[in-house]
Amino acid sequence: MLSGGCAPIPVTDIKGVGTALALKLQRLGIESIQDLLLHLPLRYQDRTRILPIGSLRPGDEGVIEGQIAASDIVQGRRRALLCRLQDGTGTLSLRFFHFSAAQKNNLASGARVRCFGEVRPGPSGLEIVHPEYKVLKATGSVDVEERLTPVYPLTEGLTQGRIRSLAAQALEWLDRGIVEDLIPDTLRSQWKLPELARSIRYLHQPPVDADLDGLLAGTHPAQRRLAFEELLAHHLSLLQIRHSVREQGAPALKATGSLSVPFIAQLPFELTGAQLRVAREVARDLNMPHPMLRLVQGDVGSGKTVVAALAALQALENGAQAAVMAPTEILAEQHFNNFSQWLEPLGISVAWLAGKVKGKQRSRELERIANGEAQLVVGTHALFQDEVRFSNLAVVVIDEQHRFGVHQRLSLREKGRNGEQTPHQLIMTATPIPRTLTMSAYADLDCSIIDELPPGRTPVNTVVIADSRRDQVVDRVRKACGEGRQAYWVCTLIEESEALQCQAAEVTAESLREALPELRIGLVHGRLKAAEKAQIMAAFKSAELDLLVATTVIEVGVDVPNASLMIIENPERLGLAQLHQLRGRVGRGSVESFCVLMYHAPLSQQGRERLAVMRESTDGFRIAEKDLELRGPGEVLGTRQTGMMQFRIADLQRDADLLPRVKRAAADIEHSPSLTQALISRWLGQGADYAHV
Ligand code: ADP
Ligand code: MG
Repeated sequence: MLSGGCAPIPVTDIKGVGTALALKLQRLGIESIQDLLLHLPLRYQDRTRILPIGSLRPGDEGVIEGQIAASDIVQGRRRALLCRLQDGTGTLSLRFFHFSAAQKNNLASGARVRCFGEVRPGPSGLEIVHPEYKVLKATGSVDVEERLTPVYPLTEGLTQGRIRSLAAQALEWLDRGIVEDLIPDTLRSQWKLPELARSIRYLHQPPVDADLDGLLAGTHPAQRRLAFEELLAHHLSLLQIRHSVREQGAPALKATGSLSVPFIAQLPFELTGAQLRVAREVARDLNMPHPMLRLVQGDVGSGKTVVAALAALQALENGAQAAVMAPTEILAEQHFNNFSQWLEPLGISVAWLAGKVKGKQRSRELERIANGEAQLVVGTHALFQDEVRFSNLAVVVIDEQHRFGVHQRLSLREKGRNGEQTPHQLIMTATPIPRTLTMSAYADLDCSIIDELPPGRTPVNTVVIADSRRDQVVDRVRKACGEGRQAYWVCTLIEESEALQCQAAEVTAESLREALPELRIGLVHGRLKAAEKAQIMAAFKSAELDLLVATTVIEVGVDVPNASLMIIENPERLGLAQLHQLRGRVGRGSVESFCVLMYHAPLSQQGRERLAVMRESTDGFRIAEKDLELRGPGEVLGTRQTGMMQFRIADLQRDADLLPRVKRAAADIEHSPSLTQALISRWLGQGADYAHV
């Protein structure tokens, strides 16, 4: 056997599997027989015993056997073949909407039948619709299954019966040793992990007395064994990325202070202790001849932008360029304005590049970027299109990383590469990431935390109120704006469609204009042209508008210190992290601020709990942990973030307790390249292409 396990054997090596079937299997991520073995059942059926009809309850699923007492075609709403089945303990109907003449003959009165299906209430007692069935011979008996029957995830054109038989054949290959146990014996015995092949077999064909509850919950030791290995493989792949990046060269940037000292001196505030600490960590990384890969986490308003500016300035102090990228035009433009204001007095030239920068202006900016005249470039992902050439890019700052997926992050790193040199990367996120997720999804990054807010902030008071009291909320807006302050009104809608969301915001703005004729009310939503959006945001910022009605587009980056009131409609529809982000838009000035969560009754238990967390806490990290607990990692990371999170078996939340062990095992195994490679290709397969950085 090859070191590190057996090479993948194509599924077409299984007898009877041709290209058509192989293509279907591919849709399930199954290419090799090994993949097939790791395609585990969703649940199990118990076909190991025959249930007395008299004992059945609606919703039960099982095997029954009896004699057909009557068989008729009935004309109800739909024509159907109806057979009455009796076993001495009770009677039950079998109902077929589709049936052939042969079937009708086989299921004639007097026939003995064994069937399997889900029992449900029918017009005349319990029935099974379209049961699986077998007509039994008059004499002799038929065995029941010895093991629980697996139910697999399917894809179009693949039946349960077919995949069951494929899995059963794959298990024969398993016995021939095609899946080597890659976890070293020492680790396996230390953590009492069951053997791999046995775990796989168990999960495909559990014995009658298996702990079904444990299996359904995914906490059975056999499942934990596989989850452990899968998490380990993912972790190793991230470490691999990390190492391969570290091996690349990067410009070692000296912190001369020639720009950062005057920059800090001209700020109207002192840096917080946390900002200084993180800035020092970044400065040290930038001074290395290998690319920095650092994630800076800091709650909304903790002052990450200054840290980003300092990183950029260190590039400029060395005659190199820096790029700052934000996920939306609004946010990018705001950065552009901030950086221009801060840096142009220091004689620094800042360029601006977004999708909406077109024509002559665009070619001019591109040229300034290419010839190095633009020292700092701010933009959206437009920055990383092929036409953009940097003259000497040394530092890339990605703001609000949360909105970029792991794959995007990796591809940006790739695109920013400049000959032999890879730029340093600073990634900033305002959505605190729970520790369990940082340990897994972000294992390729170093992490800094700005854990202190600038002084003088007044925490936002959060009020939870039903929308039946909307009038009171409107009064509150009238009062706040009457006193010269500004307010946000955030509309949310459960529909996916952006068109509907915008429409709802329009309706809301209209009704608020009627209710509050004395106020100047603006409306922003995703369907406005970027220029219109920017214009309205600018008007709000310069206090030409009192109230801004918005869809969740204002979530990131809007900075208007005079806004001290935010109404969020239907907050129960949003994730906690998103609510926290939104709420971070108020409380930026010195006046006391309020956030009104106006929910639509009735709230679910979970909904109540979630809003209570918002009322009680303003700590982004605590809120993120709670969000993870209530909603799971996919949601918390956002759909665009799921690339890395698609585990076959593991579940970050359920298996979080495995992570410290996964980390330790990875540190051990890392030193064996063949083992590392075998684990990664077993679990990540061809999907591991992002590992080639
Ligand atoms: P975020 O971490 O959410 O990106 P920003 O960098 O946008 O936060 O900073 C929020 C606001 O706080 C800005 O108006 C910024 O100028 C201000 N700020 C940043 N650092 C400090 C500080 N040390 N003291 C006072 N205000 C600060
Ligand atoms: Mg920010």
